Amino acid sequence: TDQQVAVLNILEDVEEEKRRAIVSEKRFEDIAKSSSDWIWEIDAQGQYTYVTDSVEKVLGYKSSEVIGKTPFDLMDEKEAQRVSEEFKKIVQKKLPIKDLVNLSIHKDGSKIYLQTNGMPIIGKDGSFLGYRGVDKDITREYQIDKAKTEFVSLASHQLRTPLSSINWYAEMLLAGDAGELNREQKGYLEEIYFGNQRMVKLVNALLNVSRLELGTFMVRPKLVNICYLADIVIKELQPRIKARNIKFIKKYDSQLPKIRVDVELMTMIFQNLLSNAVKYTPARGKVSLIIKKKNRKFIIKVSDNGYGIPRSQQDRVFSKLFRADNIKEKDTEGTGLGLYIIKSIVDNVQGKISFKSKLNKGTTFLVEMPLSGMKKKAGTKKLG
Ligand code: ADP
Repeated sequence: TDQQVAVLNILEDVEEEKRRAIVSEKRFEDIAKSSSDWIWEIDAQGQYTYVTDSVEKVLGYKSSEVIGKTPFDLMDEKEAQRVSEEFKKIVQKKLPIKDLVNLSIHKDGSKIYLQTNGMPIIGKDGSFLGYRGVDKDITREYQIDKAKTEFVSLASHQLRTPLSSINWYAEMLLAGDAGELNREQKGYLEEIYFGNQRMVKLVNALLNVSRLELGTFMVRPKLVNICYLADIVIKELQPRIKARNIKFIKKYDSQLPKIRVDVELMTMIFQNLLSNAVKYTPARGKVSLIIKKKNRKFIIKVSDNGYGIPRSQQDRVFSKLFRADNIKEKDTEGTGLGLYIIKSIVDNVQGKISFKSKLNKGTTFLVEMPLSGMKKKAGTKKLG
């Protein structure tokens, strides 16, 4: 009798487990069905082994049509190549997929922007079995974002003409072309002139941002000595370096060959990093620039012993319009767009940018790029 009771108890437990599993599966199915996101699983070969039915709402294909395909079969050729290169890097290290934006093609031919998140599936023996994750349709957000960027581009473009006339006429008045000015008049006019120059800088930065975001900028590499480009920028900065009594040290690697880079883009990178280092270092501080070869890369290292970036704000350094609190009090002129712009440039030319900073101790920015240089990119607009 005891054995019978024990067996019955076990059976009851099994039934309860089964019931729970069914409820939990049903719960998952209901959530998955009502969601506009679709959940998927791919095997180690990259083929879908499971997708929820909501894929039909997003891409027009039935789940049975998607199974056996790879994510790249749902993209056009160019996008498939771009995403597969990015995906390869993630898979090699078995990293989670985080907010990977990609463009798929709906069954009716329209473009669908997806944001993919996923986790690697690792077997009990540690073997790699594939990925499972969620795809979110972000087409609408993407279009709104694009419209906003296009608006900024149009508005800043339109603002350029009146700003240049203000510049032009202020310069003429200051030069005395319309008669001698007294000290007070000259003082006011200088305020107008410098205020206008700041506005020109801001408008140009906004145009650069929109060109980077719309992807309309071009990359035209030429074989150059990048140390020579750095020297031109240092020369431009010399008055500010002198005025603040800053000790400037430069170290160039004599082994560094000429590299194919876009002169304007490379100059912007030097300008931003070096002018920031000078701007955010108090008088009598130290700024250094090192350019050297490291294996198949070249490195640009800009260090200062200045104000630094507060630790709590360091994760926002490369975001649009970021200016740290310790700087906002001291310098009212910046736009907070410089680092965002050069990070986009560096990312676009197969490079990497990073930094280390300690409050009131100093900051070091590091740019790494392949010695093979920048790849050519067709575009309609120049940055600058
Ligand atoms: P801007 O200099 O016009 O404010 P950036 O995008 O070039 O814009 O820089 C963003 C912010 O990052 C700066 O406002 C400053 O707070 C911080 N920052 C950048 N470089 C340095 C540096 N070398 N030392 C300290 N803070 C820096």
